[in-house]
Amino acid sequence: MTVSSAHYLSTRGQAPRADFAEALLRGMALDGGLYMPEAWPTLSAQATREGRSYKAIGMDVLPAFIGDALPAGALARALDTLVAGFDHPAVTPLVQLEDGLFLLELFHGPTAAFKDLAMQLVASLADEALQASGERLTLLTATSGDTGAAAVRAFAGKDRIRLVVLHPLDRVSAVQRRQMTTVQADNVLNLAVRGDFDDCQQLVKGLLAEEALREHGRLSSVNSINWARLAGQIPYYVSAAAQLGEPATFVVPTGNFGDAFAGVATRHMGLETHGFIAAVNQNDALARAINNGVYSRRPAVESGSVSMDVQAPSNFERLVFEASGRDAERTRGVFETFARDGAVAFEPDLLASLRAEVSAVSIDETETRAEIAHAHQRWGQVVCPHTAVALAAARRHDRASGPVIALSTAHASKFGGFVSQMLGFEPEPAPVIQALGDRPERLTIIDKAPDAALSAVRAFTA
Ligand SMILES: *Cc1c(COP(=O)(O)O)cnc(C)c1O
Repeated sequence: MTVSSAHYLSTRGQAPRADFAEALLRGMALDGGLYMPEAWPTLSAQATREGRSYKAIGMDVLPAFIGDALPAGALARALDTLVAGFDHPAVTPLVQLEDGLFLLELFHGPTAAFKDLAMQLVASLADEALQASGERLTLLTATSGDTGAAAVRAFAGKDRIRLVVLHPLDRVSAVQRRQMTTVQADNVLNLAVRGDFDDCQQLVKGLLAEEALREHGRLSSVNSINWARLAGQIPYYVSAAAQLGEPATFVVPTGNFGDAFAGVATRHMGLETHGFIAAVNQNDALARAINNGVYSRRPAVESGSVSMDVQAPSNFERLVFEASGRDAERTRGVFETFARDGAVAFEPDLLASLRAEVSAVSIDETETRAEIAHAHQRWGQVVCPHTAVALAAARRHDRASGPVIALSTAHASKFGGFVSQMLGFEPEPAPVIQALGDRPERLTIIDKAPDAALSAVRAFTA
């Protein structure tokens, strides 16, 4: 395998090529597009062999994405740190529910949601890249709960990196808030914004444009537009295939489409599958785009599967780029039209290619609730609302073509309030949640005004 030249292109075609470290530290390409690998590397035959460790799979899959952009040994060290933070030896165990139906448990990490898998790697790799270049980095991120928690845990104590997380005051669960605010690390600032998640995202956009904040080094974000986060999600699809030993259909609970796109990537790398189903909640822009051929914006509505309350899934741009035969001009046209008009219709050839990459289904709140009750009654499984969306979609799917794997993206106890409405009891807390205890919290409450955010961040980075 050649590892010297892993390069990244922008989906909009007007930014210079970047190596892995640049794509990792920059996040978004300079032309507003998303980074994509210039070519898909091919999975080695041994990657999906039975009985391989998560680290071994990571060492098979990820070097081709990194090339020589990081110091030798960086990836192995990052994988060691990742694995050490998980409380299951398989890291992402595959659990059988019944004939042909499986759950891939992605919640055994430090914050009990799948975002740990990529965030732990990204934090270690970014730290290594910065040590090599001598730079410093300030990361800004808006969160509705899980991303912020995973980021705080992953970046705490990394001395070249400062992390600022903005969450909407009183609109994340108590567990999610405490996962962010009880970490006593001087390089982390938690801002609780008097507003909603969109206000937080607006503030982050504004802050990222503040030249003054670049005085202290690079300024970037760690949401799932970052290619490194997607790369960090590829190994568990390979691990699932290795654990199962035969091709499957993957059903992915979907918000920003980062998790599902990592799955789609594995197929381009040669993983044998029966396909990918993106399961969304009633925020169904993605399902409408794939099923009706029109991608259009609607206001997001609140659901029990809060981490999927997304109406403009950022990684959809990567799918359009790939499905258009990597036509950057066409991709730019689609997303410029969407930005301008709030809607864009796909031409038949592009729609057919999108459908060949992934199918999509929307599961409403009633079906999600019923699925939580069903999973408990039928298999004794207590599942989180996001997992329930995937399970409902998985059970709708015809299993005649082969087994189905639903991704279980969070531990039910992270969303205990919602789950207990159906089951009549609170889920047993995950060990990492129990361990939070009643440690003191650190957070700064601010108004949703750009000035308030800027002065809080300046005081922190000064
Ligand atoms: C973030 C998240 C999702 C959605 O993942 P995307 O990559 O944004 O599609 C699903 N479930 C849980 C628990 C999450 O935290």
